[in-house]
Amino acid sequence: MIVELLVIGNEILIGKTQDTNSNYMAKRITKYGHKIRRIIAVGDELEEISNALREIIDRKPDMIIICGGLGPTFDDMTLQGVAQALNTELELNQHAYDSIKRRYEAAFKQGILKLDGMTKEREKMAYLPKGSTPLPNQRGTAPGVKIIENEVLIFCLPGVPMEMKSMFKIMVLPILKEKRGKFMEKSFIFTGIGESHIAPYVTEVEEKYPELWIKTHPRLGEYGAEIEVSITAFNVENAEELADIAIEEIKKVVISLKGKIKAN
Ligand code: ATP
Repeated sequence: MIVELLVIGNEILIGKTQDTNSNYMAKRITKYGHKIRRIIAVGDELEEISNALREIIDRKPDMIIICGGLGPTFDDMTLQGVAQALNTELELNQHAYDSIKRRYEAAFKQGILKLDGMTKEREKMAYLPKGSTPLPNQRGTAPGVKIIENEVLIFCLPGVPMEMKSMFKIMVLPILKEKRGKFMEKSFIFTGIGESHIAPYVTEVEEKYPELWIKTHPRLGEYGAEIEVSITAFNVENAEELADIAIEEIKKVVISLKGKIKAN
């Protein structure tokens, strides 16, 4: 599947919150052989959210995961933005309303919250875009949302990492597993040659094997500057075999360049 992530929150744009949610999701989506095409972050603004979502829908991914801004406060605009992008409205979802009410009643009885009953803010979380299915939030109060638009599966998950992870595991992961693709990753590390020195040879190998994505990552390792060459591929039948061949070719170049450096 092709997946796009839309992360919502002013806190992310001003650097107050580090967006660990998309990193968490990206790792798992990739692990099951699906491709993240884009990760987009926008603030809590209606037009920003709806425009970003429209653009994503126009690119026709298989799945969109929107994350953050489902809470009770006025600046939690996500669902309003989703409704606007889908040219629909928010409507009270009775199922969502009942589950939010039950959650607050339980929290009040346990003494966790001092305010009983449904307030306007609490009720707000039960207004979902028309045609949505509410997703239970086992770690918080704001329900998530599942909605299908022109065959694109859209999920809205809460921003609080614990809530997002729980909902992701229960609602999204089974779909990732069911529609599983094949993701392959192989890498090796070498030292003694700079990234720019090896770059033209890596490009040559990459052009020879267009099915593979070959990338060099310079970093400071245990023994000084080192380069990691990583090779990844999505849904390529003989990816492992091709990667092994490509690795051998790059290793040969590394050895030969090192020899030349020594000779000089
Ligand atoms: P809830 O209604 O359950 O509180 P919400 O969807 O309204 O959730 P937000 O208001 O967007 O969530 O975010 C709540 C908190 O979660 C933020 O203050 C931040 O600490 C954390 N958070 C939000 N988005 C992310 C993210 N992308 N990565 C990591 N943490 C995040």
